Amino acid sequence: MKFSGKNVLITGASRSIGAEIARTLAGFGLKVWINYRSNPEIADKLKEEIEKSGGKAALIKFDVTDEEAFIEGIKAIIDSDGELSYLVNNAGITNDKLAMRMKTEEFMDVIDANLKSTFIGCREALKLMSKQRFGSVVNIASIIGERGNAGQTNYAASKGGMIAMSKSFAYEGAPRNVRFNCITPGFIQTDMTSVLKDEVKENYIKNIPLGRLGDAREIAQSVAFLLSDYSSYITGEVLKVNGGMYM
Ligand code: NAP
Repeated sequence: MKFSGKNVLITGASRSIGAEIARTLAGFGLKVWINYRSNPEIADKLKEEIEKSGGKAALIKFDVTDEEAFIEGIKAIIDSDGELSYLVNNAGITNDKLAMRMKTEEFMDVIDANLKSTFIGCREALKLMSKQRFGSVVNIASIIGERGNAGQTNYAASKGGMIAMSKSFAYEGAPRNVRFNCITPGFIQTDMTSVLKDEVKENYIKNIPLGRLGDAREIAQSVAFLLSDYSSYITGEVLKVNGGMYM
C-alpha cells in the first residue's frame, strides 16, 4: 500500500477497532496520533507497543464531543508536524433502548458522540487539507446506518447521518483533492459488542454469509486502503465490511 501523506489522527484509538487502525497504519509508516478520552494507561501502552515495532506514535487527549478541545487537538498536531495528512473518525458509542422508552437526551447523546463529532472532524480536516490540496478522511459508520435496527434508533440515525454527510463532504473536498469515504462495519468482535449475550451473537452469526464475526484488523485494513493512494479515484464511497451480512 502506498501513502503520499505522513501522519494520521485516529479518534477513539486507545482500544478496540481504533487501536487496530493505529497499529495497521503505523505498520505502513505513518505517524499515528492516538486520540483517547479516558484511559491514559492503555493509550500509553499502545504507543509503546507501536514504537517498539519501529513505528511512530503520539498521544492526543480530547473528548470528541468537545468542539473546542477537538479543534485544539488538531492545532497541536499541525504545530508539531506542519500538516494533517489523514483523519479517521472512529470514536463512537451506543446507548440501546427501544424507541418508545428512549429519552430525547439518550437520542441526542449518541448523535453528539457519533455524528456531531464527525462533522467537527471533517470540517476542520477539510479546512486544512484544502490548503494542502491533499488529504483523505475515513469515517467509521455502521451497517446499522444502512439497514436500521430495533433498539438503535439513536445509533442508526447517527451512522446513517455520517454516511450522507460524508458524501456531502466528498463533493466539497473533491475540487481540492480531499477525499471522504465511509466504512460500514458489520458485527466486529470488540468491547462494544462483548456486552451482548451469546445467544444474540449466535443469532447474528446465522445471518452472516461468511459465518463468523469480523475482526478489528479487517476494518483496519479497509481503512488503510481508503486512506492510501491505492484508492485515489474513490471518494463519497461506502465500503461495507460485514461478511456479507448486508449486501
Ligand atoms: P468500543 O470498543 O466501544 O471503543 C470505542 C472507542 O471510542 C473507545 O476508545 C472510546 O474511548 C472512544 N470514544 C467514545 N466516545 C468518545 C468521545 N466522546 N471522545 C473520544 N473518544 C471516545 O467500540 P468499537 O467496537 O471499537 O467501535 C469503533 C467504531 O466502530 C465506533 O464508531 C462504532 O460505532 C463502529 N462500529 C463498531 C462495530 C462493532 O461491531 N464493534 C460495528 C459497526 C460500527 P474510551 O476508552 O474513553 O471509552
